[in-house]
Amino acid sequence: MTRRQLLAGNWKMNKTVAEARAFAEAIGRQADAFAGEADFAVCPPFTALHVLRVTLPARVALGAQNVYFEPKGAFTGEVSAEMLAEAGVRYVIVGHSERRHLFGETDALVGKKVEAVLGAGMTPILCVGEDLRERQLGHTERVVERQTKAALAGVDAGRAGEVVIAYEPVWAIGSGQTPAPEDAQRVVAHIRRVVEQEKGKEAAGRVRILYGGSVTADNIAGFTAQPDIDGALVGGASLQPDGFVRMAKAI
Ligand code: PGA
Repeated sequence: MTRRQLLAGNWKMNKTVAEARAFAEAIGRQADAFAGEADFAVCPPFTALHVLRVTLPARVALGAQNVYFEPKGAFTGEVSAEMLAEAGVRYVIVGHSERRHLFGETDALVGKKVEAVLGAGMTPILCVGEDLRERQLGHTERVVERQTKAALAGVDAGRAGEVVIAYEPVWAIGSGQTPAPEDAQRVVAHIRRVVEQEKGKEAAGRVRILYGGSVTADNIAGFTAQPDIDGALVGGASLQPDGFVRMAKAI
């Protein structure tokens, strides 16, 4: 089973509309970087979705960083999956560790969001990963297993292969520290085995699993060369057009 690599930029709470437009124009001047076999996406704050929809190069898809699972109603401050799909969004990051830790998102809530994103015809990028304490206790496998099972619980085996999973060790996010690529490979292979147990061989062969956490243009290739790692979810290093272009060329 060959899986297409995916490079997804997670801008977090960065960039105004004007800054987003400048980024899209800058990478548009180097659009040949996106001509290869891989898929590319940028996930800005909601406020910059529209400007990116009209300015990003055609091969770079639009992503969002969050969603609410209810279709509509009295949920002040929230945005539904259908609203995102209509705005041109293809990928939605779900269960990022910042959402889990700063905003109290539970495994059960993350699972509902995954279902809502699939239901609206988009691709969830489900984030899983252990924090430093869990790693030191030797609980990495157990944590990613729990998070993966819970998030996929409501997903049909026939659709589970559409989900993108991002393995992001919490201690590696924004820290400049990363696991060795072989180390990340071991955990990603474990996540793939969990998908196989839960949803079968077909889904496990199709599901794309990214690595995320302090990825840069200099270290990305070491991760994406691993047999089970199908791309990268990149925060800080995705904010600079040149960095994004260099990473696109490196995967
Ligand atoms: P980072 O963030 O690349 O800045 O470490 C990754 C992420 O949080 O998705």
